[in-house]
Amino acid sequence: MLVAPLSSGSAGNAYWLESDGTAILVDAGLGPRETKKRLETVGREIEHLAAIVVTHEHYDHIRGAESLARKYQVPIYLTRGTLNASRIDAAETKTVVFDNDTSFTIGELQVHACKTIHDAADPACFVVEARDGTRVGIASDLGYVSQDVVRHLSGCDGLFFESNHDLDMLRTGTYPWSLKRRIMSRFGHLSNDDSVNAVQRLLGAELKTLCMIHLSQKNNHESIVRDMCTRLLRRTGASIDFAIAKQFEPTGVFDVARRRERKAPLGQMSLF
Ligand SMILES: [Zn+2]
Ligand SMILES: [Zn+2]
Repeated sequence: MLVAPLSSGSAGNAYWLESDGTAILVDAGLGPRETKKRLETVGREIEHLAAIVVTHEHYDHIRGAESLARKYQVPIYLTRGTLNASRIDAAETKTVVFDNDTSFTIGELQVHACKTIHDAADPACFVVEARDGTRVGIASDLGYVSQDVVRHLSGCDGLFFESNHDLDMLRTGTYPWSLKRRIMSRFGHLSNDDSVNAVQRLLGAELKTLCMIHLSQKNNHESIVRDMCTRLLRRTGASIDFAIAKQFEPTGVFDVARRRERKAPLGQMSLF
């Protein structure tokens, strides 16, 4: 499965997933023109888009969904809570409502949805599964990582996981206290510490690609996230492609495939 993070963070989120001729966007936080442009820079064509799958109604995840859906005549998959809390006009735009903790099929892709905890109506994270069984998990905007989410994301070949803020930077930063409290709450976003703890629980033998997403521009640094994850991966001895998703340009194209049975000596890594 090809995965191309086109934009990641509070200024817009969009992830392109493509396998066996089916392509979907998970979140559509960019308008049609910018989405098309970013796809072109990574050699993908928006005309192949089959559907948009939305995690929740916040503007940075849904801003371009309606215009993209109308322009390219594709449906938007979302929970009832997300639809009702959004401004999407279901009479004019094709929508498909799914329930959290169920699975649905879009072309050759299977999408498994799991409820997340965040200050939104009925937010979701996803595992997208290809015909050959390759599984890619995408989870962002989590106030807290529930057992259900850990169970859901276990055994993925590729994981795109939120690492929003450094707690000290957030505490001492310029955000108003009310916003700091919201971000730090169980309905806000994951700190780097929470995120690395969760990733540690999710590191399975299958994991081939790990990409940290939705980093705060104001309250985080790529170098902090990179250091923490490098330490974790070094400790576990896992050989994993590691990346940090960018906000203002595509991060590249990850070719996530099922890891073949292979006996690599412990400590031999191909990081960075
Ligand atoms: Zn967000
Ligand atoms: Zn959100």
